[in-house]
Amino acid sequence: MSEIKEKFPSESLGSRKRILITGAAGFLGSHLCDRFVKEDYHVIGMDNLITGDIANIEHLFKLENFEFYNHDVSKFVHIPGKLDYILHFASPASPIDYLKIPIQTLKVGSLGTHNLLGLARNKNARMLIASTSEVYGDPNVNPQPEEYWGNVNPVGPRGVYDEAKRFQEAITMAYHTFHGVETRIVRIFNTYGPRMRLNDGRVLPAFIGQALRGEDLTVFGDGSQTRSFCYVDDLIEGIYRLLMSDYAQPVNIGNPDEITIKQFCEEIIKLTGTTQKIVYKELPQDDPKQRRPDISKAKELLGWEPKIGRAEGLKITYEYFKSLSSEALEKIEHKDFTTFNR
Ligand code: NAD
Ligand code: UDP
Repeated sequence: MSEIKEKFPSESLGSRKRILITGAAGFLGSHLCDRFVKEDYHVIGMDNLITGDIANIEHLFKLENFEFYNHDVSKFVHIPGKLDYILHFASPASPIDYLKIPIQTLKVGSLGTHNLLGLARNKNARMLIASTSEVYGDPNVNPQPEEYWGNVNPVGPRGVYDEAKRFQEAITMAYHTFHGVETRIVRIFNTYGPRMRLNDGRVLPAFIGQALRGEDLTVFGDGSQTRSFCYVDDLIEGIYRLLMSDYAQPVNIGNPDEITIKQFCEEIIKLTGTTQKIVYKELPQDDPKQRRPDISKAKELLGWEPKIGRAEGLKITYEYFKSLSSEALEKIEHKDFTTFNR
């Protein structure tokens, strides 16, 4: 990881809208910082770097409309000056990460969200929280509409993440209805693209990393479980539109193009040209069997739907991973992810 630098927000306010983005050094947070910097906002990034990488936002440090706090949002959050918007994206997000740091995951979804809602209330800012398709658990309805309440095991290995996110939605609605805070809730489905961490265990970096290192590709279970993958630029556009909308109920944002994990693995094998084979490993506990967003609401309310198909998105993402230094690739220890008893 690069040397950690900090830039602190000044109170010189100027005319720009000011937005706080938590989880700024992570995969999605860094793309959001790029987007709002480009829209000429004053962006205040915040991250404690527990799963993020400062390299994802280093290119922004030279800009006068970007500042960065290295801070854990589960502790009291102070931002000098006015704030117009808060995007709360801080949270471990991959099953490997939230199994390694379960308590921090619960805290950032609960205490962290509470702190930020308090800040939003105090500053009269609009706050959007990053929720997830995991609130639907292992769904027995497919595709999942926002009205579906889900099928979550609170005490299973994924419970620390799923229940933190469900609590996050509940407290956000409570601040909305009880305190009148302007809130938005995005339920994000599996998203991929440049700046994912090669070793975060999520399926796309896992497969591409294995292909690049000349290892066999590990499919969990028989690979018949499904996911629906959304390219990051599409997601960011959906989040932007939701933030600017007046809709406070949860909205699914994702790409409804559903695929089995085995088919997905075969696509990666073709894309990378690897001669390695598929090996099958034990299916982690509570691994959802199917997942596909119903995006009728996003279409209707936001005029949003994904534009970038998997072939195009995977190609861009593969080029990104290939461009990483060989040193970055070598740093990855090969882990048998099933040993985490996910
Ligand atoms: P990520 O791990 O790349 O980014 C999360 C960032 O939050 C990291 O930079 C990490 O250091 C930071 N962070 C974690 N705890 C923190 C704390 N207590 N204080 C300050 N910073 C903290 O993950 P991501 O994929 O970018 O996910 C971002 C958000 O989107 C998460 O809330 C996640 O639940 C949600 N989400 C992502 C996906 C996806 O497919 N990527 C899907 C559903 C939901
Ligand atoms: N998966 C897999 N091999 C891997 C990593 C993941 O087969 O090396 C599977 C995993 O069991 C799940 C799917 O890929 O069914 C998506 O996993 P990921 O961790 O990316 O996200 P999830 O949607 O489960 O949160």
